[in-house]
Amino acid sequence: MRIKFLGAIAEVTGSKCLITTKSNKKLLLDCGMYQGKGLETDSMNRDLGFDPAQIDIVLLSHAHIDHSGLIPYICKNGFKGKIYCTHATRDLCSIMLPDSGNIQESDIRDFNKKQDRKGLPPREPIYTARDAFASLRFFVSMPLDLEIVIEEGVKVVFTNTGHILGGAAINLTITEDGTDKHLCYTGDIGRYNKHLLSNPSPFPQADYIITESTYGDRKHEEVKSAEAKLGMIVQNTCIKKLGKLLIPAFAIGRCQEIIYSLNSLKKANKLPDVPIFVDSPLAVSATDIFRLHTECFKEDVLDIIRTQKDPFGFDNLHYVRTKEDSKRLNTYNRPCIIMSASGMMEAGRIKHHLANNIEDRKTTILVAGYCASRTLGRKIVDGEKIVSIYGNKYKVNADVEEIEALSGHGDYEEMYRYLSCQEKTKVKEIFLVHGEPPAQKVYKHYLQDNGYEKVSIPFKGEEVEL
Ligand SMILES: [Zn+2]
Repeated sequence: MRIKFLGAIAEVTGSKCLITTKSNKKLLLDCGMYQGKGLETDSMNRDLGFDPAQIDIVLLSHAHIDHSGLIPYICKNGFKGKIYCTHATRDLCSIMLPDSGNIQESDIRDFNKKQDRKGLPPREPIYTARDAFASLRFFVSMPLDLEIVIEEGVKVVFTNTGHILGGAAINLTITEDGTDKHLCYTGDIGRYNKHLLSNPSPFPQADYIITESTYGDRKHEEVKSAEAKLGMIVQNTCIKKLGKLLIPAFAIGRCQEIIYSLNSLKKANKLPDVPIFVDSPLAVSATDIFRLHTECFKEDVLDIIRTQKDPFGFDNLHYVRTKEDSKRLNTYNRPCIIMSASGMMEAGRIKHHLANNIEDRKTTILVAGYCASRTLGRKIVDGEKIVSIYGNKYKVNADVEEIEALSGHGDYEEMYRYLSCQEKTKVKEIFLVHGEPPAQKVYKHYLQDNGYEKVSIPFKGEEVEL
């Protein structure tokens, strides 16, 4: 078989990897969208590097848009095969992909207004919400830990990675010339000892591993101390400065984990009495999906999910669904916490909250997840003093805080711990994807120093024969 590394190469968005078997079957591992704005990202998304009509099967590790977001695009462009993923991933995609379609449509409307002013022709959106709905009929969902044959000579089993509801590693056994080759594509690896999701599970022995390396050079704080820091930031912003705390967060996964942390601070009387607004229609819909997938949760969370009407609700927590209610928050002048998507601040309602509050010294922006280069989130974290939002320039007077420990990605020790189920000498090669070069370099040496003989960092478009 041959692997072609197509996306999330030396960066963290656009995950895509193509396997071609000896019998010429083409399997695509993840079909992620590049995130960021502008024509460069747009053309990276439109230029796939393969013909969708030639792909037989897509295997999807999890529902985050940087792993799933181009599924409607390949379906619109001739893909007719099956998309395998876990049950929870399929259900999350049923709300996340149409939402992404809406974002594509609205972004292109803004872009075309500018084109029109310059006398240039309009562009089509990459895909629409309608295309996203149409793509859902290609999904075949399956439980964790069940091995099935998906093609002659190709078996797959999904194993939990604890990164997001339904997040799973794709473990393939491909039989060629009478020999079984075992390949694990880990997708994103979650943290250990989180509130909601169970810890990452061991996975079958692999000959080859394609794994993420986002925090390959970072060691996170424990979840508990991150929670204490979160409490302090709320105190400083809402009580001392009497300002607003903006938390950009992925609507699904990150949002619910942070709500859980706020809830546990509240139970311990460590959270001041300020209103919390979760300004995301997706986060509201996600709650129902979370309730459907108890197989993904830790034991102690199951009871709460079974008994409470809304496991992610408590006093002072308000879900904001409509656009009008979201806009009403602009004139809400009292201290509060506003959590809104997207985590990298590239899309969604967080942008208008930023535009409204970023110049106010009383505001704090709390970054709780990884922000890819090129994104507005990264510019803010990197301390840029002037940023552009909706084409207008804003001074960054707000305080900017970061708690990496609230991220859905494990640090290098946790990623290494995840790999510890493997007999190192049996692993022929590890390929690092989904990471930026400095993190990848450090993680590569860490793995080599700890007994993995061959660790490679592929370049974009590189093909490797296994
Ligand atoms: Zn992810």
